[in-house]
Amino acid sequence: MKAIVVHEFGGPEVLKYEEVPTPKPAAGQVLVRIHAAGVNPYDTYMRAGTYAVKPPLPYTPGSDGAGVIEAVGSGVTKVRPGDRVYTARTVSGAYAEYALALEDQVHRLPARVDFNQGAGVWVPYGTAYHALFHSAHARASETVLIHGASGGVGTAAIQIARGMGMTIFGTAGSPKGLEHAKREGAHQVFDHSKPGYTEEIMKATGGRGVDVILEMLANVNLSADLKMLAMNGRAIVIGNRGEITINPRDLMLRRASARGFTLWAITPAEEADIHAGLIAGLENGTLTPVVGKQIPLAEAARAHKEILEPGAAGKMVLIP
Ligand code: NAP
Repeated sequence: MKAIVVHEFGGPEVLKYEEVPTPKPAAGQVLVRIHAAGVNPYDTYMRAGTYAVKPPLPYTPGSDGAGVIEAVGSGVTKVRPGDRVYTARTVSGAYAEYALALEDQVHRLPARVDFNQGAGVWVPYGTAYHALFHSAHARASETVLIHGASGGVGTAAIQIARGMGMTIFGTAGSPKGLEHAKREGAHQVFDHSKPGYTEEIMKATGGRGVDVILEMLANVNLSADLKMLAMNGRAIVIGNRGEITINPRDLMLRRASARGFTLWAITPAEEADIHAGLIAGLENGTLTPVVGKQIPLAEAARAHKEILEPGAAGKMVLIP
């Protein structure tokens, strides 16, 4: 089979498109014929060797794939060959024509969701679900600012928050991204590349502030976020690429909190909640992943460059 293989940590050019043996599922494992693989920003940090999780080399990147069960190992009862699934982590990597996964790492992909969309389920929707329900304990009557609403996690967060009944403010940095956030359900959108946009957000809340902020770039925004929180507000750090100075008094005045998490560290009970909620939403139409760029698997290096560039509008996927 063809797969992307990383032999050394480094820039996008270390993603090599190679012929490798097709793996065989051991006991408790399944083999998935991958129709699409999701590209997540963390894939680039891992490839660079700077991420908290450093895989042994060589490795094939990718936790998020969608496709069809090709074969199952002994003892597998959850799925059968021919079943449509999405992956939430894999054993051998989703940037490939076939990926091994543990039985527990594959989940039923509802019929109304195609494979390209299915490749955008786990990290984006799992993160957005965890942020809103488990971390922020968000409620229908509250307002949420999705700070970075045009990308994978932001789009998922808009759809989930909208399904919950929340009032949504979203930001993006391009006209295309703003239009995208509005179309997906943000009630009001703001351009995070324009000076003064945080004042516009405050104005839109009538000066009260927002109850929940989902932050995609905390090293740039966290200080301003704390000033935009309402009483008892919660700023949830999802994305961060550096350091920032904050004034803790902004939290004290508002009885507010700033919390962070990584999806890697969720509990099995939280993960069970996430898949149950996501599959129900994908089935009933509340959640519909939006595919932005589709890039051939052989051009994974280009995908790793483009995922870090501004101008997001939906989810980037690789097609084997
Ligand atoms: P993505 O699809 O590449 O989207 C990136 C988003 O960040 C876009 O909406 C982009 O908007 C926005 N952004 C750029 N500059 C911004 C700014 N100054 N202020 C606010 N937002 C800004 O990435 P993603 O998959 O949504 O992930 C978003 C971040 O969360 C990444 O850093 C990722 O590593 C992190 N993440 C963390 C976890 C976790 O477990 N904690 C899980 C998933 C993702 P424009 O392009 O429109 O400017």
